[in-house]
Amino acid sequence: MAQVAVDLAVEKATVTTNGRRITVGDFELTMFSDGNYWLDGGPLFGIIPKPLWLKKVACDEKNRVVTGENSLLIRGGRQTVLVETGIGNKFDERIRKIYEPEAKLLDNLTAAGVGPESIDMVINTHLHFDHCGWNTERRNGRVVATFPRATYYAPEGEWQHGQKQYLRDHVSYISDNYNPLIQSGQMKLVTEDCEIIPGVSVRTIPGHTRHMQVVMIESQGQKACYVSDLIPTSAHLDLLWIMAYDLFPMETIENKKRFYDEAVPGRWLVIFTHDPAIPWGYVKETGTGKYGVELVTGS
Ligand SMILES: [Zn+2]
Repeated sequence: MAQVAVDLAVEKATVTTNGRRITVGDFELTMFSDGNYWLDGGPLFGIIPKPLWLKKVACDEKNRVVTGENSLLIRGGRQTVLVETGIGNKFDERIRKIYEPEAKLLDNLTAAGVGPESIDMVINTHLHFDHCGWNTERRNGRVVATFPRATYYAPEGEWQHGQKQYLRDHVSYISDNYNPLIQSGQMKLVTEDCEIIPGVSVRTIPGHTRHMQVVMIESQGQKACYVSDLIPTSAHLDLLWIMAYDLFPMETIENKKRFYDEAVPGRWLVIFTHDPAIPWGYVKETGTGKYGVELVTGS
């Protein structure tokens, strides 16, 4: 088992999602990584015993697993859309030590010639800090929009939940990531499933949180889905492999099953938010409650 873990660690150190590209009908999708951060393997895999998850991922001496931060750039329509903005760089030293975030999203976008002003729309699937960190940045002591021209979209129920600062999950909701945008009128709170631009829509799938939305991309009969924390990595494909962070685990399992009922026969490209090495793939059933990913070659 130790050998398997080492092999996986080596593989993940050399493979990255950043810059990976694929087309879905008229859309060109490019993955931009905010770099990796570290999460404890316990909550990351919920009720799954460590000896089992160690067969799929490696952990360090602190039990931490390398976790990716994949933002998706959608081009090809009239507008350029960025789905999720990673973990950002507004952390204090204490948080920085726990998660060791790399905060590379802006650098990676810029290196590819995608300046912050070229983003027309930003979609946040939910408002946990590791999904909307680069929504804003600190400039001259003020928190301002990182993407100055963009209209931002997030589920209204997420914002309301975050404002309540519940003991259970208040650490996940950092208001600097969204409140300045709401105050400036730059963020629109979405109350129901809707189309953001033709071919790109949001769909609510409860489980991880009550109001989390996935992003559907549809063109020329092809479909892709950015599944957010419904299936955070390709190691979470099996129905019961869900995170302990989920507020409604029974709903996650049920909704994952429903999702597969559509996505597997429909050959949807499934796009992973937190996989450090595999940006996307087609899901296939390998047994009862068990699923695997068919990798896409050449992307
Ligand atoms: Zn989350």
